[in-house]
Amino acid sequence: MYPAPFHYHRADSLQEAISLLSELGESARALAGGQTLLVWMKLRFDEPQHLVDLSRIPGLSDISMEGDEVCIGALATHAEITKSAVADAIPIVHDCGSGIADAQVRSRGTIGGSLGSADPSCDWPTLLHTLDATLTCVGSEGTRKISVSDLVEDIYTTILKPAELITEIRFKIPPANSGGSYTAFKRCAPAYPTASAGVQLTLADGDVCSDIRMALGSAGLKTITSKKAEDILRGSPLTKAGIDKATETIVAAAEPVPDQRGSEDFKRAVLHTLVKRAVDIAVRRCHGETIRGRHEYV
Ligand SMILES: Cc1cc2nc3c(=O)[nH]c(=O)nc-3n(C[C@H](O)[C@H](O)[C@H](O)COP(=O)(O)OP(=O)(O)OC[C@H]3O[C@@H](n4cnc5c(N)ncnc54)[C@H](O)[C@@H]3O)c2cc1C
Repeated sequence: MYPAPFHYHRADSLQEAISLLSELGESARALAGGQTLLVWMKLRFDEPQHLVDLSRIPGLSDISMEGDEVCIGALATHAEITKSAVADAIPIVHDCGSGIADAQVRSRGTIGGSLGSADPSCDWPTLLHTLDATLTCVGSEGTRKISVSDLVEDIYTTILKPAELITEIRFKIPPANSGGSYTAFKRCAPAYPTASAGVQLTLADGDVCSDIRMALGSAGLKTITSKKAEDILRGSPLTKAGIDKATETIVAAAEPVPDQRGSEDFKRAVLHTLVKRAVDIAVRRCHGETIRGRHEYV
């Protein structure tokens, strides 16, 4: 199926992209890797008259560690992030990027597009909630920083203003004695996850959980988090009973939508298993074990 006719504009700088998007108005969309937008256009889910291509804008795909922060440009592709020194140093980042779709999608799709699509099935938003990331957004009214948890208003809808773009994603490098894990359950590589879970935790005095963040993807219309679940584990030694209770609490906060990937009950059962698996791997990584993260396939 072909998309409806559209005009193509290539921006050579961020300012040019923002000016074009402002001038062209509501009928224009930013185009990054096209791995979501072009599919939407072919399905007539979206029919923009103008596409403003961001992919040639220099300086927006750098991936670095600066001081105590990781900094990822919005145009960094899934493959570039997965192969980066950041993914080598922080295993949860590798877990996430390496399981996204197939090699073709990973080589074109970008982290900024994944966030901009506001698709609750995308993997990076769930990972970035787990790591409590901050986004830099630039538009015609200037630059602002927002928490990733404030980005999505509703499914496929962000709070970004017209002509406002995400340019950079930042999160703190996890401290010593911490470990994380991101895992998803998928029908096959080029399919979105049926469900996914991310856990990042820090241990002190042996097995006391001094900090934890948990997030669920494909588990509702937005990424699911639960302060209540995290509070069950934060500040106490990790026990099986505590982990069971926290898992039940965050899964209860999920609102999985039944679809071709499974019923609500099936998705809840999968989420339950994924959270427990992610906690287990996160704890073992805290203790220094090297564990290769992987997504689960049917
Ligand atoms: C077959 C297939 C399987 C897939 N499987 C998975 C999967 O398992 N996991 C997963 O996470 N994803 C999956 N995807 C989606 C893929 O990861 C996309 O690359 C990603 O969701 C969108 O990134 P993009 O760069 O292609 O964005 P585009 O498609 O170019 O844009 C998507 C949306 O974001 C907006 N946008 C783009 N860049 C910015 C920006 N910098 N600031 C603000 N808004 C912006 C666009 O205007 C558009 O509305 C799959 C895609 C396909 C085709």
